[in-house]
Amino acid sequence: MYIIASLISLAFGALAIYFVIIHRQLARFAREAKAAAEAAVPPACPKCGSTDHDFATGGLYDGRDDRTNKSTSGSFQYCTCKACGARWGQWDAGTPYLVSDEEWKRHVDLHSPVAGSDHATRLQESGYFRPIEKQS
Ligand SMILES: [Zn+2]
Repeated sequence: MYIIASLISLAFGALAIYFVIIHRQLARFAREAKAAAEAAVPPACPKCGSTDHDFATGGLYDGRDDRTNKSTSGSFQYCTCKACGARWGQWDAGTPYLVSDEEWKRHVDLHSPVAGSDHATRLQESGYFRPIEKQS
């Protein structure tokens, strides 16, 4: 009986230490994420350098890299520069680049509900998408 009680208290002690370690790790991750977010520089237009832009679409991707055949994932965004009107894209933390009409059509027009587009109209009609009212 004494051995069982000792084992149980030992197990609870180990569990307590485990939770303290996990808590410290999570607190460290939170601090690092906050520091990274604060240090993040908004992407600059590749044409004029302005950081003022209209967000067109973006999101997360995952799949398989054709060249390495390894699984891959990350994020992307497509924007229009408010200063010069250039359309640019950025994948992961890469350098923003000017987007061709063909790429814009493939990634933005066909996949995002741009107000007034056929896609947005279809989504609105389906009840799935409600346009966000612009805040002034
Ligand atoms: Zn620009």
